[in-house]
Amino acid sequence: MSKDLREFLPEEIASLMKSLGEPAFRAGQIFGWLQKEGVASYQEMSNVPAALRQKLEQEYPLIRPRLLRRQESSDGTKKYLFSLADGQAIEAVLMSHREETGHIRRTFCLSSQAGCPMGCVFCATGSLGLQRNLSTGEMVSQVLEVAAIEKKNIHNLVYMGMGEPLLNMEAVLKSIRLLNHAQGQKIGIRRITLSTCGLPEQIRRLADEGLDLVLAVSLHGPDDETRSRLMPVNNRYPLKELLAACRYYTETSRRRITFEYIMIKDLNIGEQAAAKLGKLLSGIPCNINLIPVNPGPHGFVRPGRQEQLRFCQALEQAGLAAVIREERGADIDGACGQLAGKAAAEAETGEL
Ligand code: SAH
Ligand code: SF4
Repeated sequence: MSKDLREFLPEEIASLMKSLGEPAFRAGQIFGWLQKEGVASYQEMSNVPAALRQKLEQEYPLIRPRLLRRQESSDGTKKYLFSLADGQAIEAVLMSHREETGHIRRTFCLSSQAGCPMGCVFCATGSLGLQRNLSTGEMVSQVLEVAAIEKKNIHNLVYMGMGEPLLNMEAVLKSIRLLNHAQGQKIGIRRITLSTCGLPEQIRRLADEGLDLVLAVSLHGPDDETRSRLMPVNNRYPLKELLAACRYYTETSRRRITFEYIMIKDLNIGEQAAAKLGKLLSGIPCNINLIPVNPGPHGFVRPGRQEQLRFCQALEQAGLAAVIREERGADIDGACGQLAGKAAAEAETGEL
């Protein structure tokens, strides 16, 4: 069992309390301090006896990522670089946007792995290779630390930072359970988006979990040839297999899928691409998020605004629901090439 109390569910803290001879109600208190208040130390747990606080501090020291850098974009998007206990560096991004109701909503983009093994050619994280999976505690901690730094609530969560979440599924699902918990951050399950490069077996398993979250699948190509050029995963799991798993997901969960599609000049957009996508996705309840590619060493160029709009319209004509995501934090994009350019409002709830 882990020694990181930030990854303990209330029932796990309860059995720890029992083994320490503590009354059952302590579990709820401690869970609240950790997951709701996001305390930086056991000393802040004012209704917990000093002797117990000291014992926990010795045997279950709070593991906190260290903030190395915080950058703020002119549009208010904030990017954080954290160092983990073993020195691995990971990134996270906080975006704010105003909803139609006028309320400010904050969307937090977190990492699930240090690096990523999938090697997508347009992606800065991919070029790092996989360093390691993050633990549940390391994922939850990104949210707790940023909520504490900004003294703000986080409303939407997107697993769109570094890494492929479905390669770290157990830890990711537990972090979702914790962050969704009513006595913790209480982030609505329909406001949590998990983004995958498209691993069919894991997509089916996720469907069988019956969680009501939003699944986003990175598509990026209208046919196997184009997609394989961009995403090596497509050689292993071509579109036919991926889309069969997506169909299974929508049928089992009764939820739409969000397809993410980066727009690259002269490569994956245009009328032909739109027509192919129309055929490919016909019958799959879905939304398409179009994202102009972030520039980087890969050398891909983003299409001009008019071209983006034409592609979006062509998709609509092909019977697909597509939107262009506004770009966020472009001026702090630097090192990452991926995180900061992401859209804010990923937490589509799109029912069937
Ligand atoms: N591994 C998962 C989630 C992390 S990547 C996945 O691939 O879906 C999150 C999103 O950022 C993906 O849609 C990914 O394709 C996109 N992305 C990566 N590099 C990008 C770039 N240079 N420009 C725009 N989007 C990018
Ligand atoms: Fe990994 Fe996603 Fe980047 Fe591909 S796009 S390399 S799957 S993080």
